[in-house]
Amino acid sequence: MNIRILTAYLAQRLAGLMPNELGTQDLALLLSPRAHIALLKRRRAQMIVNRVRLMAFLFAILTPLWSIIDYLFFPLPLWLVLALMRIVAGSTFALLAFFWRPDRHMGDAYRALALLFAIPGAFYLGTQEALAYYHLQGFSEAIKAGYAFLPFVLLAGISIFPLTLVESMLVALPLLGAQAISGLFIGPMLEWPSFAGAFWLQVLISGVAILAGVSQLAFMIALFRQAIRDPLTGIFSRRSGEELLERQFQIARRKRTALSIAFVDLDRFKEINDRHGHDAGDRALIAAAAAMTKNLRDADILVRWGGEEFLLIMPDTDPAEARQALTRLQEAGFGERPDASRLTASIGYAEVGQDLCGDWRELVETADHRMYLAKSGGRNRVVFADPPAAKQ
Ligand code: GH3
Ligand code: MG
Ligand code: MG
Repeated sequence: MNIRILTAYLAQRLAGLMPNELGTQDLALLLSPRAHIALLKRRRAQMIVNRVRLMAFLFAILTPLWSIIDYLFFPLPLWLVLALMRIVAGSTFALLAFFWRPDRHMGDAYRALALLFAIPGAFYLGTQEALAYYHLQGFSEAIKAGYAFLPFVLLAGISIFPLTLVESMLVALPLLGAQAISGLFIGPMLEWPSFAGAFWLQVLISGVAILAGVSQLAFMIALFRQAIRDPLTGIFSRRSGEELLERQFQIARRKRTALSIAFVDLDRFKEINDRHGHDAGDRALIAAAAAMTKNLRDADILVRWGGEEFLLIMPDTDPAEARQALTRLQEAGFGERPDASRLTASIGYAEVGQDLCGDWRELVETADHRMYLAKSGGRNRVVFADPPAAKQ
């Protein structure tokens, strides 16, 4: 059988198991984070760190609390050693829960995740070492055996994070590897069939947990797509637009590069609604967004800022380049009115270096103000700077 047909078939069947919004071309997004767009990275980093802190908070309470059970069933010297380890682990969890300052980068999320798994990992090794010297009876032995379950809990914990396949493997494999190596070293003391059985169970739990994590990611991406797009026009919504602009503003500041924006307001749009109905207005809005999108470069970001107002973000674009782009945009037009006449727009322009704005909101205000100047100047035009009289 042709291997390409087979893989295409398998990919299609796999995609069928995902949320409706995702297709075969999105499988790569679930495989590794390489193709994730910046906005998704930021949201995911934030979500992962939040969950890490929530788990750390729970463990910060539960880990020391379990000392009470230990106290009831273990000899005092053993209890003391374990209680000390519990206090150390619990305080480290507490530090992670309260003092981790997320910076919305995936590197930050990875570090938080690594810590969340490293603390109980070290705790497990320490307690196993301490418990190895004691042979207990009855219920005490059962409590002792419970300590051996910690790796299972850790592996199952992968399921609460929206991770790609590669990422969750990178969490699971070191845990399984450490377990396998410790099994080999203490091999003679251990009955190997029971060890192999437990290890196999851990591999199965990892598989299920990884699947759960990846499917969380699939749902997160589906919801994320709905949230960042404006449902009518399919371009970026106001909220994601603000986030994108904030980020571009920081980049322009840091790298001292240009950043141009244009505030676009369609001319006499209310008239379309009044004369031809709201549906005709909606169709004109969709057509206007499509016309603009067609004339933009890949790096440009088009946002539906409000009803018939759009914000065009042009990263790394100086005033001369922006002038060309906006002139081209205006010549290409914004689609047609229902009566087949041209739909026009008034545009206000602003640029980070030229207008010396303190933050991105000021930049938008400047462009918005110039859009009004374009309106009062007779519409269907671009205003690039304040007139000399306005500066005085
Ligand atoms: P101007 O040239 O001064 O901008 O005139 P205008 O009519 O475009 O300005 P105004 O801000 O008064 O009107 C904007 C209109 O856009 C009002 C509203 O009915 C219409 N509008 C806003 N959002 C939508 C939408 O989602 N669908 C439709 N069909 N119309 C919308
Ligand atoms: Mg308006
Ligand atoms: Mg308008």
